[in-house]
Amino acid sequence: MARYAYVDGRYVPHCEGVVGIEDRGFQFADGIYEVASIIGGAMVDGPGHLDRMERSLAALDIAPPVSRRVLELIMRELIARNAVVDGFLYLQITRGVAPRDHKYPTGIRPTLVLSTKRVDFLNQAKLAEGVKAITIPDIRWARCDIKTISLLPNCMGKTRAAAAGAYEALQVDAAGYITEGTSSNAWIVTQDNRLLTRALSSDILRGVTRDRLIGIAAEEGIAVVEEAFSVEAAKAAREAFVTSATSFLTPVVQIDDRVIADGAPGPLSRRLQGWYLDYCAGLRARA
Ligand code: PMP
Repeated sequence: MARYAYVDGRYVPHCEGVVGIEDRGFQFADGIYEVASIIGGAMVDGPGHLDRMERSLAALDIAPPVSRRVLELIMRELIARNAVVDGFLYLQITRGVAPRDHKYPTGIRPTLVLSTKRVDFLNQAKLAEGVKAITIPDIRWARCDIKTISLLPNCMGKTRAAAAGAYEALQVDAAGYITEGTSSNAWIVTQDNRLLTRALSSDILRGVTRDRLIGIAAEEGIAVVEEAFSVEAAKAAREAFVTSATSFLTPVVQIDDRVIADGAPGPLSRRLQGWYLDYCAGLRARA
């Protein structure tokens, strides 16, 4: 079956989608992106992803290329054309194509690209077994709250993690506190059973999964404390996990050389993961 992408107003075969060589996304990483999971043919937390997309665009003074309503229609059409039941949707908006010049040009049209990929999410071994993580210095810029396509430090970190046989690299600020993973938010359960994740600031991306999990935890009567934790605290934690749209809640069972607790996903992580997956399954049932 043909796989389509949406590129600047047209649905094209995925492998034929192209943008100009002077696209500012290509030349300056001058653009933003979103990744949302698709469960049962529908986007998980679509409004949350679109809200964040609008915040990222506003931070970079890029006008939305189409209205939110039209974007929702394009997303739905692409998911249907590609017959995606479970998978993810990728969206990228760059400032557009212009002769190379650092300062923002005026009067150009943003580039809008969307694609999808089918993935059998729920059968990922890492959800049940957990993953290893390493720690690395956070060498990114001071606006990590903007979801820009400028991801080179994240790619470097993820590659280091993979070379060490780990899934994620937890980035550490100058004071020794974990900011977030290279593509996920980080959480721990302390020895005195406090569920911690770093507070929102320009040091981290506001994860849509993070937001959803805070809401689910509250409904279940579990308080989330938005507070930074150190590498030492993470290594001494009862439980650790990371969250993202495509990895849901993934338990972390080892950080660097330190096995967390008994090396198996912890009880609170498993309960939270179960509630989150139930929430996703509910979306599937309604789709
Ligand atoms: N932090 C970073 C740096 C990320 O790349 C991601 C994934 N987009 C997240 C956190 C988690 O965000 P979300 O839950 O919206 O996928």
